[in-house]
Amino acid sequence: MTKAFQNDFLKSKLPSTSVSIFSQMSTLAEKHQALNLSQGFPNYPTSEQLIGLVDHYLRKGYNQYAPMPGVLALRERISEKVERLYNCQADPEREVTITSGGTQALFTVIATLVNFGDEVIVFEPAYDSYAPAVEIFGGKVVPIRLVAPNFDIDWEEVRAVINDNTKLIIINNPNNPSTKTLKKEDLEALEAIIQGSNAFILSDEVYEHIIFDGRKHLSMLAYPKLLERSFIVASFGKLLHTTGWKLGYAIAPAALMAEFRKVHQFNVFSANTPIQWAIADYLKNADHYLGLPDFFQEKRDLLVTGLAASRLEVLPSEGTYFLLVNYKQISDSSEFDFARQLTIENGLATIPVSAFYSAPKEQHLLRLCFAKDKDTLDKAIELLQKL
Ligand code: PMP
Ligand code: GLN
Repeated sequence: MTKAFQNDFLKSKLPSTSVSIFSQMSTLAEKHQALNLSQGFPNYPTSEQLIGLVDHYLRKGYNQYAPMPGVLALRERISEKVERLYNCQADPEREVTITSGGTQALFTVIATLVNFGDEVIVFEPAYDSYAPAVEIFGGKVVPIRLVAPNFDIDWEEVRAVINDNTKLIIINNPNNPSTKTLKKEDLEALEAIIQGSNAFILSDEVYEHIIFDGRKHLSMLAYPKLLERSFIVASFGKLLHTTGWKLGYAIAPAALMAEFRKVHQFNVFSANTPIQWAIADYLKNADHYLGLPDFFQEKRDLLVTGLAASRLEVLPSEGTYFLLVNYKQISDSSEFDFARQLTIENGLATIPVSAFYSAPKEQHLLRLCFAKDKDTLDKAIELLQKL
């Protein structure tokens, strides 16, 4: 291709951003044919019934634009789900919008709310898409750093940084990568802190159904005082083991959702039609999501039990399909160096947790994804036991 036109008008919006750590580690895994427990995605097939439904709607000709807010039948199903689980009445007509994945929903919420100079509180370690999206719209990220092993939020610290410019607080529960879940006291503290402030809440709940040991997911949808200023984001990629389909949704009170949709319609307009119809049918059976905690807990326990015979220290995994391990008994290398070395020399790709912090933070921690078939987990355990 020809040389790029260059002048000073192209000012990068993200001058210090490079390829995401998930892409980096998956590429490295492929190059070295390493077992890939880095990027979070299942390596087993999704349901045959669901694939059959997608096939059915493709062939039946549901191949043109969906309505801008999404297929109504699917919005109705989501509304039934949140009523059943969180006792929340979300109007499918006005308060639920189907998106092209959780990432697009997150981006659209940030685009809807954040103006130049607005401050956005982000808890670290943080999922990688939050801060760049805030910066693209001229917002200022205010990081609050949480540390291993507990990653507890000190709500007084939050109170201390909230000011009149605080537009948004981003919460991720259950949390990727810490795996922590918020407790009732956390939500009560948040509720007390934001009274009288201008702040909205972006609640990333994409792992709402991947939660362990009998814990109950505490959604913003169940807390009316929080919900009145919240956008809740979910992902069908996690719910249906289909990260490649890039479908998700957002829920918010009608007035907030009306603003979200103004941006959404010019961002993607609408999401994939036949898959929306298929999911609307598939979710008539609630067992498809109610069974997820047991399904993933079995995988988590297999990995935790296998690693008991290794020199890795395993941190408790409360939710998500990730497990954090501390390798300080094995190496003093930085997390990034150790993750690279493990991929290239030992054949196992993981994610260095330092990648989720905006300023350097080394805790000898790696994140392993256990949304994998038994054979892959067994092989990973064997490799890790040898370290
Ligand atoms: N939020 C978090 C915390 C995630 O881990 C992910 C993806 N793994 C997303 C959002 C994005 O979801 P999607 O793949 O549906 O875009
Ligand atoms: N959410 C996935 C993870 O945490 C990655 C998604 C992506 O690659 N953008 O691994």
